[in-house]
Amino acid sequence: MGKKGYKHSKESIEKMKGRKLSQETKDKIGAFHKGKIVSEETREKMRRAKINYIPWNKNLTNIYSEKTLKKMSDAQKRKPPSSQETRDKLSKAHKGKIKTPEHLAKIGAANRGPNNYNWKGGVKPYYPSEWGERLRKIIRNRDNNECQMCHKTNQKSKIEEGRALAIHHIDYNKKNCFSKNLIALCTSCHTRTTIGKIKNRKFWMNFFNRLYYINFY
Ligand SMILES: [Zn+2]
Repeated sequence: MGKKGYKHSKESIEKMKGRKLSQETKDKIGAFHKGKIVSEETREKMRRAKINYIPWNKNLTNIYSEKTLKKMSDAQKRKPPSSQETRDKLSKAHKGKIKTPEHLAKIGAANRGPNNYNWKGGVKPYYPSEWGERLRKIIRNRDNNECQMCHKTNQKSKIEEGRALAIHHIDYNKKNCFSKNLIALCTSCHTRTTIGKIKNRKFWMNFFNRLYYINFY
């Protein structure tokens, strides 16, 4: 090790492939590379080499025995949460990194359903989504396609918030889809009614019931 500018021949590269290094050798290599400043050019090379890199376990299933899987899962469970210092380090390392759409899709898939911290155990919506959208449209039309709190229009909501007006369940019961229980709100107003302490719910329920009364009676 350590000969500068020395290049391995093709044969010796082939030979090295699949060879297992002893811990001693690994330590030596580690010590040799420690503190070395890697040039931007080399970094770029390393990055490029990684693009074509295929993990050894890609597309392989059933490679671990039941026992091994249990061991791995147990080890993960025992892991204490990262310290603040570690988390700071990680966040610093990831800061400013641009994620590719594929990477984002992967993250999304990994956090979907039971993997999501907010998973409620597979609560099915009361109505099929198609009917849900139809009903939402009906309510938006009834409410003049305007947020009933700040009067932001549906069109403006789509432009500014990237989505149509939300339909709020006044009594917070998602199964209660009587039109009397539904009201169109923009995302920011809707958020105000759904986050915060539970005791606020009473306030908003009174608020919308009164609003509804003023509008329709
Ligand atoms: Zn609003």
